[in-house]
Amino acid sequence: EQPIVVIGLGHAGMQVTALLRQGGCTGEIIAIEADATEPYQRPPLSKKFNRPDHLEPLKPADFFTGQRIEAIFDRRVVGLERQSRRVRLSDGTAIGYRKLVIATGARAVVPDVAGFELAGVQTLRTLDDVAVLRKAAVPGAHLLIIGGGYIGLEVAATAAAEGVEVTIVEREAQLLARTASPRFAAEIERMQRALGVRVRCATTVTELQGGPQVRAARLSDGSTVAVDAVLVGVGVVPNSEPAVAAGIDCRNGIVVDRSGRTSDPDVFAIGDVTSRPLPDGSRARLESIPSAVEQAKAAAAAILGEAPAPLEVPWFWSDQCDHRIKVAGLLDPARELDVFIKRSGEPDSLTVLHVAGDQLVCAETVNSAVDFMAARKFIKDGRQLDRRLLGEPDIPLKDSLL
Ligand code: FAD
Repeated sequence: EQPIVVIGLGHAGMQVTALLRQGGCTGEIIAIEADATEPYQRPPLSKKFNRPDHLEPLKPADFFTGQRIEAIFDRRVVGLERQSRRVRLSDGTAIGYRKLVIATGARAVVPDVAGFELAGVQTLRTLDDVAVLRKAAVPGAHLLIIGGGYIGLEVAATAAAEGVEVTIVEREAQLLARTASPRFAAEIERMQRALGVRVRCATTVTELQGGPQVRAARLSDGSTVAVDAVLVGVGVVPNSEPAVAAGIDCRNGIVVDRSGRTSDPDVFAIGDVTSRPLPDGSRARLESIPSAVEQAKAAAAAILGEAPAPLEVPWFWSDQCDHRIKVAGLLDPARELDVFIKRSGEPDSLTVLHVAGDQLVCAETVNSAVDFMAARKFIKDGRQLDRRLLGEPDIPLKDSLL
């Protein structure tokens, strides 16, 4: 029998190989990873790049031998041959498959602006990318962060705590423009400013100057800022090229069903590379570990012939210094929702609740593990909320039921 082949050993790929074995798959499993490094956690790269323990392996060193998984590192899959059920590798070899799981993730976008090729300008996705940040993480250095998304904000918080002079430049009128409500983004901006970070929204970088090392950035308001390093965090694109070329349905990611199945029933896709269904019937490309893990579980179950589990409420976390951010549910900017505020968590907590009638749609929390846990449960179970109790900031969400 042909093996199960997994492409990519990031958060999603590692999880699916482990679950296939745990679930009783006894046949051959082969995993192909473009990177030469043993799989590691990505979240610490932005949160503690300044510390030696920013490298956290995803599994113990003996994982592959222990689980009888053949892992091929430093080799890239360059083509899918669906007729003959084979993947083609960068070294010219081919591997046949019975089932294929594409877990190739996403890569950082580099804007097409003059100077972005200068030394000291860096995106952040892999371990190698951290070197520039580590070099810049010295008191008094000037770090410019382009993009006020989660990665930029995490790097900003850690660098500012080291005494780095940090400026965030964000094109939109608020931070976290793609994911957060204006109320929540305002709170995050307040937190960042309290850490000493300069935040400039509705501003873009028109040119980076210097050579070979980046020295200055020109901004859209005509000003110039001195910089020693630049972190670019303006989003990612899915690594879906081999799937696109093979004729698999892709629209902003590989289109999958709740089991991770693509338009080819023998090909699955999981993680950041996918456009996945959500519990409310919509579809999105989520960039989060909880989603990658959920999809890995679903794909493993389908390959093992088990029934699919219900879709989970999407959730996400981010740490910015001492601030623990957790979000349950997704916001659709096109949908008008009522907003309620709670401040019943730990000191310096804030919960922004987005409610339709008596139903919770999304909860954005800082330093409030209890509100976050209640929110996940209430959204999942469709619990009825009491709007009068919701309006009391000191009453935790868990005590705001009808
Ligand atoms: P990845 O982890 O990117 O893995 C994909 C793998 O596929 C890579 O190892 C890549 O080398 C390999 N690959 C790609 N193309 C090929 C090919 N053709 N052949 C072979 N191999 C290939 N999420 C959270 O929920 N919370 C956080 O706090 C958080 N922090 C983050 C911080 C940083 C700095 C980054 C970059 C991301 C963070 N994320 C966080 C997002 C999270 O890391 C991703 O959602 C997650 O890694 C997705 O897993 P994945 O397996 O789909 O992709």
